[in-house]
Amino acid sequence: MLNEIVEINRRHTSNGNVASYIPDLGKACKEDLGICIIDKDNKIYTAGEYDTKFTIQSVSKPIVLAMALMDNDWSHVFSKVGMEPSGDPFNSIMKLEMNDTKKPCNPMINAGAIVTTSLIKGDSVEEKEERMLNFFRKIAKNDKLSINYDVYNSEKRTGDRNRAMAYLLKNDGFIEGDVEEVLDLYFKQCSIEIDTVDLARIGTNLATYGVDIETGERVLSESVSRMVKTFMVTCGMYDASGEFAIRVGIPAKSGVGGGILASVPNRMGIGVYGPSLDKKGNSIAGLRVLEDLSRMLKLNIF
Ligand code: GLN
Repeated sequence: MLNEIVEINRRHTSNGNVASYIPDLGKACKEDLGICIIDKDNKIYTAGEYDTKFTIQSVSKPIVLAMALMDNDWSHVFSKVGMEPSGDPFNSIMKLEMNDTKKPCNPMINAGAIVTTSLIKGDSVEEKEERMLNFFRKIAKNDKLSINYDVYNSEKRTGDRNRAMAYLLKNDGFIEGDVEEVLDLYFKQCSIEIDTVDLARIGTNLATYGVDIETGERVLSESVSRMVKTFMVTCGMYDASGEFAIRVGIPAKSGVGGGILASVPNRMGIGVYGPSLDKKGNSIAGLRVLEDLSRMLKLNIF
């Protein structure tokens, strides 16, 4: 069934484009489409280009949010970043000036994500980076996860819009410390290389409310996992989150690398890869794959 869903939807890849703001993302194969599902019994199902590596990009946002919530008092986190969907594109700067509080709307858009990155604890930049990478490795159950330095260098070189937002956030008191250090860590988190199996595993850990299905180890608290999934529902697909909730009805988070992380509470984690993106920056065929899957397996949580 998965093979069929992937092959039927592959044609939609021609209606989008791969991200091209940096050369490495532009090199992705537009026709690629892959999926991995890991269910609550730890059965793994794959189809298409499920093991192609790509950078996590914005799918890193819910994971760093989880870290920020575990490292800090929640009241502190939410004094720096809001809980409301923005309805604007992921890299929009507009509401930082327009909102009364100037606080970034939520942690799933760039402005809010840069704030959550700044909340990762550590005595030095190196320690923060190590803690972050280790947390990604743990939640994805993959010790080999690492940063793609070509992508990181390009993100850093071209990230002036994120830089502008970060300096504005610092000026308004939402970021403490050195802005360039925060941005450096943000560009690194976006450049972690993964595949759909890693994403499905992260989705499974969210689906079980934080308990590793193989070892029984708790990787996230129940309340943090609930909060992360809620943000994924309300803000995970940027300004397409409302339509996605209606059509698919599964907590999910997309990234411009073409990845989508999805988590069906108590049932399964899903990772999708399709680098051809629609105008809002979501995988154009990946959305269709999730829509079909949700209908066929009755995954809609609503
Ligand atoms: N690195 C990208 C950025 O910060 C990630 C955006 C995304 O995946 N939507 O703009």
